[in-house]
Amino acid sequence: MIELTDEQRRLARTAAQSESNPVEFDGLSFGNNGDGYWIETAKRSLRGLSASAFDSTLSDEQIAPYISNWHFWEHMVAHDGRHRRAFLRFLESAAQMDVHNRYAALESGMQTTWGELSITVTLASHGVREYQLHHERDAETSASELETYEDPFDAREIARFDGEGRYRPLQTAPSLIDGWIYPALTQREVFETVDILYPATIPNWNLERTGELDITHWHETAQRQTGIYDVVEELSADAVGWMAASCCADSECLKRREWEYDENTTLEADGGSGVFPCREPCSLVVAASRQWTQLEKQEPRSYTFELTPAEKEQIEDMIESVAEGNIAEIREADVSEGANRYRTRFLREKRMDEDGNLSGTPTYSSEKEDGWCE
Ligand code: SF4
Repeated sequence: MIELTDEQRRLARTAAQSESNPVEFDGLSFGNNGDGYWIETAKRSLRGLSASAFDSTLSDEQIAPYISNWHFWEHMVAHDGRHRRAFLRFLESAAQMDVHNRYAALESGMQTTWGELSITVTLASHGVREYQLHHERDAETSASELETYEDPFDAREIARFDGEGRYRPLQTAPSLIDGWIYPALTQREVFETVDILYPATIPNWNLERTGELDITHWHETAQRQTGIYDVVEELSADAVGWMAASCCADSECLKRREWEYDENTTLEADGGSGVFPCREPCSLVVAASRQWTQLEKQEPRSYTFELTPAEKEQIEDMIESVAEGNIAEIREADVSEGANRYRTRFLREKRMDEDGNLSGTPTYSSEKEDGWCE
């Protein structure tokens, strides 16, 4: 049962007095005409009401939720910040559910996953919404065991380092720490907090929904680079594809890559399945590309190495484990793993000379050739 505040009633009365502009919102309409006040929802239709009858009708259990819903969206959320409004409506499936069913669902909480975040919206008093935010891994952890936050700006600290204490250069990497909770954010605060944890993901998500997302493809981004980064324009389309596969996969970034090499050249790499899109190559990818542009200038050459089949497979295992970030999971006792530390040390002892050359094979044919990429 929703109880309206005096302010909600006053605003409804004021809105109802306008003959020329009846209220129409989320299945509720009300106003007045020559025959008196009227109010309509899916389950109630009352006409020809006096001002005092209209006032008492507002408390009707079928009508009060609609009035509180109208008040929340039109007076509390209002229309400044269209991306914020769209996101908040998305959190409670406002486009799909009528007020009655939505309020029933909000009583127990409606949960949405956003990247690694879990956002739950519930009804507080008078139909005001309250938003709870935590890491999705903490879904089963009781709030009392989590560190409690209230200020959205504290999310900058949450976002700064991963679970190993390493700085997170990419905010949308799937490495957000868990163990924290914002138990009761307002509609404005939940937007601010998510925007700090995953900057610009809400505006870009909404722009994509409305067909307004402006994509900047790799080639245009590369052409715009100046200074030490202007070389990235030389990176081949194949190498851009390998880079996208390496950096933009779901395992590395929660954004869904929408940019391609250029408007006419799509990349073979999978763009990922994130909820929010990536509209242009990020600074991390541009910075990494500078290195790849240098490395890709080298021509391939043939080397002859002596390796046993098991050693070749071990090197392949090591590349796989490093690329997938699995090294920390390989136990020291598990020497059957190619990337096991003892096994790697064994290979180094056996196959690398004192200068670090695999099978004693020099990388460069002369000293002059060495250091080309400094
Ligand atoms: S460019 Fe790739 S890594 Fe960077 S934000 Fe976009 S999808 Fe993520």
